[in-house]
Amino acid sequence: MALLRFLGVGGGRFVTISQPVGTAGWVLEMDGEVIQIDPGPGTLVRAKQHGFDPKRLTGIVVSHGHPDHCTDAEVVIEAMTLGAKRKRGFLLSNKDVISGTEREPQRISPYHLSLPEITKEIAPEETFNTGKISITAVRTKHRDENALGFVFKGKETIGYTGDGEYYSGQEKSFRDCDILVLNCLRPRDDPWPNHMNAAQAKTLIEKTTPRLAVLQHFGMKMLFGRAEREAEWIEKETGIKTLAARDGMVIDTEKPSGLGRFIQ
Ligand SMILES: [Zn+2]
Repeated sequence: MALLRFLGVGGGRFVTISQPVGTAGWVLEMDGEVIQIDPGPGTLVRAKQHGFDPKRLTGIVVSHGHPDHCTDAEVVIEAMTLGAKRKRGFLLSNKDVISGTEREPQRISPYHLSLPEITKEIAPEETFNTGKISITAVRTKHRDENALGFVFKGKETIGYTGDGEYYSGQEKSFRDCDILVLNCLRPRDDPWPNHMNAAQAKTLIEKTTPRLAVLQHFGMKMLFGRAEREAEWIEKETGIKTLAARDGMVIDTEKPSGLGRFIQ
């Protein structure tokens, strides 16, 4: 079984600085692993609010170095390593976050990079294996050119687009996914270069045919019921079950519907 726990479904600058919803990413529990994906600002506080203990984490995956994806990485590493007292877990991210570039230093301090048992830099199409899960990095088309998406393959196959607009061929990486999580920042009639809107999300969902698609990482224009309407529209157009995630929502793939149970 897999458990997807959404700690904070917001994204983008304006949602980050005003916090109408959280910017805390999500947690995947599968095959004994508990993996925090994109610990943006407020992750520790949102985790506490939604009853998730980050000391349970066995891994942290950061898709790229923008603040709404990695601001809380250091404190989440401290939680995973039980107050920096025990070398445990893994940290997986791209070059910018772990090594830095000529223009900018790395996003996580050398001290914190040294705390997990494994700290690994990954590039598109490379795979990292941990326990019974393999994690393959996927290219994105984002303002941050090294930003990544991921496919988590264990008992279920879970895709995560990361940030970025739809590009031709993106579906090849997500074709086998049971569940696809999409960072859908804007509504269908509102395109924004380098970011995915609901029209592009529909295209990717149509081409990958997952059992369930979940929209999250919403900008301001997706709040106040708009994300739910976009999810309904995508489901109607594609025939594929599509949900708009909410803060604190948990999807349990073992529930009889096969789609999940939702706890608010
Ligand atoms: Zn970004």
